Amino acid sequence: MNAVIPLVPAEGCATSPVLRERGQHEVFCGLTGIVWLHRKIQDAFFLVVGSRTCAHLIQSAAGVMIFAEPRFATAILDERDLAGLADAHDELDRVVTRLLERRPDIKTLFLVGSCPSEVIKLDLSRAAERLSGRFLPRVRVLNYSGSGIETTFTQGEDACLAALVPTLPASPHAQLMVVGALPDVVEDQFARLLAQIGIERVVFLPARHSAAMPSVGPGTLLLLAQPFLADTTRALESRGARRVQAPFPIGVEGTTAWLEAAAGAFGIGPGVVARVTASARERTTAALQRLRPQFEGKRVFFFPDSQLELPIARFMARELGAQLVEVGTPYLHREHLADELAWLPAGTRLSEGQDVERQLDRCRAARPDITVCGLGLANPLEAEGLTTKWAIELVFTPIHGYEQAPDLAELFARPMRRAALVGRANPAAEAAPCN
Ligand code: SF4
Repeated sequence: MNAVIPLVPAEGCATSPVLRERGQHEVFCGLTGIVWLHRKIQDAFFLVVGSRTCAHLIQSAAGVMIFAEPRFATAILDERDLAGLADAHDELDRVVTRLLERRPDIKTLFLVGSCPSEVIKLDLSRAAERLSGRFLPRVRVLNYSGSGIETTFTQGEDACLAALVPTLPASPHAQLMVVGALPDVVEDQFARLLAQIGIERVVFLPARHSAAMPSVGPGTLLLLAQPFLADTTRALESRGARRVQAPFPIGVEGTTAWLEAAAGAFGIGPGVVARVTASARERTTAALQRLRPQFEGKRVFFFPDSQLELPIARFMARELGAQLVEVGTPYLHREHLADELAWLPAGTRLSEGQDVERQLDRCRAARPDITVCGLGLANPLEAEGLTTKWAIELVFTPIHGYEQAPDLAELFARPMRRAALVGRANPAAEAAPCN
């Protein structure tokens, strides 16, 4: 087996300079990941150990998705805890015991750290160990941090999956592990395609149930489905797994190359992938061709948010004909994104981190046709006459794989169509340079 398969020659932005900014940044914290993780791992519970602000954030981010028996909650640290007047560990034990007595359906409990729990240095790993000792084997208690001091919103998923890795059983089997939470519908499509390609043993992290979490070992090859999983990858590599170099399965091109990389790692040639994916590629390419006139030459500006910016920008440029004004990302993992960098049009302005005022100035000066940004920036930019897309929707919507590529394009096409309908002027668009 060959774990590293060079797919594209170094070109594009592989060696381009990156504008690194370290200033005020506007991005959700890692608690946000709970919103999609609690839907994915169906017998897990996420207990945020935090403040009323934290409770408010996940309640409003989860919004309509709250179930009759929710699978997340916040243990509120009050003034007495914060002032060190109460033993927060005792209180946490009481909350957890009450919760687990009432909810026999919970099989994995994540204690999720926040800014307040970090400020008072509440050792949640000790708490998780103590509570696991008490409740195993019925419930496993793990911990990770979703604090805004340490994480941006997709890093919450990375921290959660990295916390799971030490609990995975050891396996000597040759297998492919697809890493990163995907909506079930997308996971099912990938499982089908990978089976048709002939990879016999394919597992997904995270699994939908605690008892079904995959094993890992030296025979495991990792295929990342998300670009924000640096810690999880490191943890899996420390268990002997090896990463398959690939772009991300966004758009026809990305999905095909991603499948080819997986196939190649198991000694299966691209001809098999071409045969298996022919009809899906044809259908999706035709659908994208119909959307392409709406994107041709349209100028796109990405603020840093989800770390999905590079693959999505690459898809918009190469498959829809958009022009990239700036592609910002909170972190640029050069190794994991090597193929994506090589595929970006040469000369694309790349930025890592954020100094929000400077970036807003660049955006205003460029007046792009569409700006991908966080909720906090979208309203002011809209008020200034710019068309925006909320980055967080890209994480909540199924966007990976063939069938979803036209839906992904639609996410951007809709606000641009609306802007065209209201006759939103973009006077600088003709004059401003692309890069
Ligand atoms: Fe705010 Fe920090 Fe709580 Fe996130 S973890 S909601 S940034 S206080």
